[in-house]
Amino acid sequence: MKYISTRDESARGYNSAYAIRHGLADDGGLFVPRSIPRVDLNFISELASLPYRQKATKLLSLFLTDYTYEELSECAAQAYNSDNFGDACAPIAYLPNGTAVLELWHGPTSAFKDMALQIMPRLFLLALDKCGEKKKALILVATSGDTGKAALEGFKDLPNVFVKVFYPTDGVSVMQKRQMQTQAGKNLSVTGICGNFDDAQNEVKAAFSSNELALEFEDHKLFLSSANSINWGRLAPQIVYYFSAYCDMYRNGAIDLGESIDVAVPTGNFGDILAGFIAKLMGLPIGKLICASNSNNVLTEFLRSGRYDKNRAFHTTISPSMDILISSNLERLLYFLFGAKRCAELMKSLDLFGSYTVSQEELLCIREHFEGYFATDEECAECIKSTYEKDGYLIDTHTAVAMCAKQKFMHEYKTSDKILVLSTATPYKFAADVLQSAFGVKETPENSVKKLFELSGVKIPSPIAAIWERKIIHPSIISKDSMNDSIIEFISRI
Ligand SMILES: *Cc1c(COP(=O)(O)O)cnc(C)c1O
Repeated sequence: MKYISTRDESARGYNSAYAIRHGLADDGGLFVPRSIPRVDLNFISELASLPYRQKATKLLSLFLTDYTYEELSECAAQAYNSDNFGDACAPIAYLPNGTAVLELWHGPTSAFKDMALQIMPRLFLLALDKCGEKKKALILVATSGDTGKAALEGFKDLPNVFVKVFYPTDGVSVMQKRQMQTQAGKNLSVTGICGNFDDAQNEVKAAFSSNELALEFEDHKLFLSSANSINWGRLAPQIVYYFSAYCDMYRNGAIDLGESIDVAVPTGNFGDILAGFIAKLMGLPIGKLICASNSNNVLTEFLRSGRYDKNRAFHTTISPSMDILISSNLERLLYFLFGAKRCAELMKSLDLFGSYTVSQEELLCIREHFEGYFATDEECAECIKSTYEKDGYLIDTHTAVAMCAKQKFMHEYKTSDKILVLSTATPYKFAADVLQSAFGVKETPENSVKKLFELSGVKIPSPIAAIWERKIIHPSIISKDSMNDSIIEFISRI
């Protein structure tokens, strides 16, 4: 299987290790497989009897053909075991009204990014080897919350890679900050900056082209890399849980083999939902992918009108991991549907004007697979309350966006298809807002977890239960102008 850029399909292509080692193609495009492997119902039915890690191995082996089956099997076993994920990696909860909820937050950081970031670092290490890379990797991350912590957990104590995370000290939740500040690991460094997420992101981007830093990296035999969701090594593992969910619904008798399901996905960077689209292209019986957004509804507008326009006000919501105006992985969808030439054209427009418009014909083609809805904070709060009261199930603020979208979809389409809702974080990760929504109780972030437990009786995930007792290892908070110095200081200790 060869990988090419979304903006140029004439190239000979690279193997998957190259795509994972490099992250981004030289022309600024994203790596995509030249073709999508197809599977049939037989394959799905055989998959259904395997544990999650073997499903992952089987599916990844179709895409990462330059990795041996043993290598993939070893990576999957190290990632998807009970130490990391407990009894089940991605279990389904069935609500009394029949809604299936796929819980993607049983990993070490209690958010869905673990599904990819537990295995991607291992694929990345093997990729260095396969590419003959002699230098060590320095992964720079700017995070608005979940990615930073999940990357730290995923790369912790691995050889030949170092991770430096910057987060905006006032732009992440108290829980997220605490999770990062207490992170142990010899190869890790975490620093808060005075500024917002864009400041952190811009400085990290600037670091990639800084001459001063380039000399330092050369001296220390390091190369820079990133772990964000445009890396194919993060996207490919996300295809697995769509298959696993379908298999579980089939085994549980919720659907017949071959029956089509719709899936509602809380969407930010479009990585999660794109993995669902790839699963559909492979042959998994998925009808509509329901793209759920919060008030940053740039995708809803795009899926309705065909116009993508990031020139708009940015809203800070109670679902912060979806506060995004540029959904990078949408580029891959444009490639899959319209080819590299058209994709490059649209991306150029996005670059120049911050917007682009697809033709009505192209829009129809997108809408054959996708439908978009958005939900305000008030609608989400109401949904958290009613899901708890009617169904006895506590959801977090991100899952609430998907649950709202599912309701709007059912209302509009009057469908009898089975709908799967993806749940991307435990309610305890956003305990203060969930507490307020479900019970009308206001508490400090420190006390919210306990209070939410008292009122709901829902079990607290162990990584969160212990968080306030853990020692702060990374207290440093700096001005955004000192980020380069902070990087230099970190690599001088490597
Ligand atoms: C990252 C994240 C999302 C959005 O996923 P994308 O792949 O960026 O669309 C949704 N919910 C939570 C809790 C997340 O951390």
